[in-house]
Amino acid sequence: MAIQSINPLNGKRIQTYKEETAKTVGEKIEAGHKAWLKWRTTSFEARGRLLLKAAAVLQQQKSGLALLMAQEMGKPLKDGIAEVEKCASVCEYYAANGAAFLKDQKIKTDARNSFVTCQPIGVVLAVMPWNFPYWQCFRFIAPALMAGNTGLLKHASNVPGCALSIEQVLLKAGFPRGVFHTLLVGSKAVKGIIEHPLVKAVTLTGSTEAGRQVAAQAGGQIKKTVLELGGSDPYVILEDADLELAATVCAQSRLINNGQSCIAAKRFIVVRQVEKEFVRLFKEKMSNKRLGDPLDPATDLGPMSRADLRDELHRQVLENIEAGAVCILGGTIPDFKGTHAFYTPTILTGIKKGMSGYREELFGPVACVITARNQAHAIEIANDTSFGLGAAVFTRDIKKGECIAREQLQAGACFVNTLVKSDPRVPFGGINQSGYGRELGSFGIREFVNIKTVWR
Ligand code: NAP
Repeated sequence: MAIQSINPLNGKRIQTYKEETAKTVGEKIEAGHKAWLKWRTTSFEARGRLLLKAAAVLQQQKSGLALLMAQEMGKPLKDGIAEVEKCASVCEYYAANGAAFLKDQKIKTDARNSFVTCQPIGVVLAVMPWNFPYWQCFRFIAPALMAGNTGLLKHASNVPGCALSIEQVLLKAGFPRGVFHTLLVGSKAVKGIIEHPLVKAVTLTGSTEAGRQVAAQAGGQIKKTVLELGGSDPYVILEDADLELAATVCAQSRLINNGQSCIAAKRFIVVRQVEKEFVRLFKEKMSNKRLGDPLDPATDLGPMSRADLRDELHRQVLENIEAGAVCILGGTIPDFKGTHAFYTPTILTGIKKGMSGYREELFGPVACVITARNQAHAIEIANDTSFGLGAAVFTRDIKKGECIAREQLQAGACFVNTLVKSDPRVPFGGINQSGYGRELGSFGIREFVNIKTVWR
């Protein structure tokens, strides 16, 4: 089977790659294990030095890597450059802090000496999505390699050029061959890779359905998984919110990466007293984005990453309108020439329980506005979801906002008066069907280590 990259701007094929055979994949797994036997004995200093070199290579190559993203999945160039810079920052972060996060901890017991040590576990498989083709991978790669593991990447099938370039960046930085491999395979090959005895654990970032299947396969082999899955993040706008700020942040968050972000704001839960004014301001902010060629510096929103995903989003919009939602902005496929995957920023109001906009993830530039009677009702709606990735609350009462974020909103990351984002310094991950385990921060680097007790 061939793997193709298609430009979502015009539907043209960029390149065709041959899918790797099971034999080649097996050889790469064995090479990864062989490399690990040496890599695990290197010092944190040596690993950190290579991560700093990777950060430098990323900085040098950021324009080219951003161009590849623009061509393969439609990300505007300026956003692509910012993404690559963020990848450099996560390499620098773990180079500076990894050793401290993993240092031995003495434990007082009745032994002469007892301590806990974090030892690398071996080859870890990463199954990754296309939406942040570099960031999703580097937030796995930096801590995994710093911890002394080796990595295998099965990237999304629509970004094979990005996938191959990650291996090249790491080789250019000087990582020994075998410490990191990209596998050019489709999702059907994943089961066999998980079953290979030399693959010790799996991390998957992607849809809840893919996570369910991969977790079941890994569970069958008693292999640990970290799952970073979908979300339908609620943004709660209370009656005492700064509505101008709330509308600006909500539009920014809904349109991050053209709406194709797991932690984009997706449900906007507004207390009735301020709904009219919030919606007016929100519509204004959602309207003034410029759609266009991702290579044009003036473009805010490029095409969505694939035409079939755009079509599915449009179907969801029509389904909600049919069920009684009111479309006050967008809801159309814009009339550009040729085959493309554009979708206009869209706002649906009057979303109610029972509609798909209330319960499903809409993975594109479509906002679902839900009306709440009061604060308690707004929080009840925010938590009435199968997901639990991020959430945000808008209020001028900072103490109340922190209390709601800490105790009432059920999600892995809750923000007050600002948008949910990932940052190398703080853990990232979800609860419920948004997955389990954490990436980033001190917690992320401890997911794939053997937390070993030593006693004498
Ligand atoms: P996806 O279809 O689940 O694909 C993600 C990755 O999983 C791809 O590499 C895909 O390979 C692979 N895959 C799909 N089905 C699989 C299966 N049954 N077995 C093994 N591998 C499988 O998701 P997507 O459309 O690329 O990404 C969008 C989803 O990811 C959204 O739900 C979004 O919220 C979520 N996401 C979550 C996070 C987070 O941190 N929580 C971050 C980004 C995105 P192929 O491409 O070859 O099918």
